Amino acid sequence: MMKAVLLTIGDELLAGVTVNTNAAWLGAELTARGITVARIEVIGDDPEAICQALRRARAEAAVVILCGGLGPTHDDRTREALAGCLNRPLRLQPELLAQIEAYFRQRGRSMPERNRVQALVPEGFVPLPNPVGTAPGLWLQDEAGVLVVLPGVPHELQTLMRDVVLPRLEQLPGRPVVWQQTLVTAGIGESDLQQRLNGVEALLDDAVRLAYLPDPYGVRLRLTVQAPSDEQARQRMEKLVQFIQERIGSALVGRDAETLEVVVGQLLRRLNATVAVAESCTGGHLADCLTNVSGASAYFRGSVVAYDNTVKIDVLGVEPEVLAREGAVSEAVAVQMARGVRERLGAHFALSTTGIAGPTGGTPDKPVGTVWIGLADAHTAFARRYYLPGERRRFKQRATAAALDLLRRHLLQKAASTPALSA
Ligand code: ATP
Ligand code: MG
Repeated sequence: MMKAVLLTIGDELLAGVTVNTNAAWLGAELTARGITVARIEVIGDDPEAICQALRRARAEAAVVILCGGLGPTHDDRTREALAGCLNRPLRLQPELLAQIEAYFRQRGRSMPERNRVQALVPEGFVPLPNPVGTAPGLWLQDEAGVLVVLPGVPHELQTLMRDVVLPRLEQLPGRPVVWQQTLVTAGIGESDLQQRLNGVEALLDDAVRLAYLPDPYGVRLRLTVQAPSDEQARQRMEKLVQFIQERIGSALVGRDAETLEVVVGQLLRRLNATVAVAESCTGGHLADCLTNVSGASAYFRGSVVAYDNTVKIDVLGVEPEVLAREGAVSEAVAVQMARGVRERLGAHFALSTTGIAGPTGGTPDKPVGTVWIGLADAHTAFARRYYLPGERRRFKQRATAAALDLLRRHLLQKAASTPALSA
């Protein structure tokens, strides 16, 4: 395993003024290339603290990446910290100075005197010219491993990484190949999922990892495999995916970008069918999700946001007596909403949502978080009750996911029972 430690430098990171996006970006890029990020540290603009962190990091990992504090201002202390700490005196590099001067000249300015410090390079470091800014990156390869120093400005850091640093890191020997995959699940909570995957530990180790990533739409499973060769990585990944597939069955929605709305779209296209929705408690979020998919006009007819009861009656054809008797949040109203929107918008399938988002409006038998989701097609109309308590936004997201998942499972059955399509 090739390990890396990231040292992100800047008082503004500690103070919470700047979000440490460089750490996340670097983490993803390195992980994808078989370099395991063992630790990320945030350090203030303090040479002593930078030096201590640098010593620890180099003792621990073959690759150390340090970012921030390379600028020309007095608060940028990284360069001097490096020089002092590694006992490598700063030397002025005339070619670098010429490049920095040219950078300003091209922009019709003369170089401020302070920027001269950016042409100072600690002995033994290779400067990495920065085409999009003035602070060059620095590269050192010695007996302790590789040390990379990058400017803190995110687009400068990313450009230097892509153009110069990653190609160099890819040349390092002993790097494993990495395969990553995300499995999207729906309709099953994190602890239930864990229960169903009981025994998966036997397939996992340092090189094969499984992470649970829950959000209101469902739990995604992140699979990461490291191996000496693509063939070995493929085999271990396949074994893990197969195990998960067998255990969770239809709760598995798809892979990577195959979210609920994408898969619902695929199924509707396969069936050559359309969908319409009637939304009360989701307030349009169901339509929002469906229309996030490019090409949705091929199967999405439209949405009626029927928030007020008169809209449920006048636009969707819900019967006033049923509304009065059962209440808006009820099985009968959810069914009538789905039927109504299906007929009025001329769709093959229809969904409806009606629920209590809260925080007010709950009753003992219909507490906040109660939702009825209706589904109608040419042959059937039914509704299912869910309990999805949570803050309003989260409630709408969970209800939307429940509705999409109800339709997905219904469409899967249709697709399987349509001989021409299941072939
Ligand atoms: P410059 O030459 O622009 O001064 P620098 O290497 O000195 O570059 P910093 O002064 O540390 O970098 O930061 C420059 C900008 O980049 C600041 O706006 C800072 O908030 C942002 N930045 C620094 N570190 C990070 C980080 N880890 N994640 C996201 N943004 C960062
Ligand atoms: Mg700076």
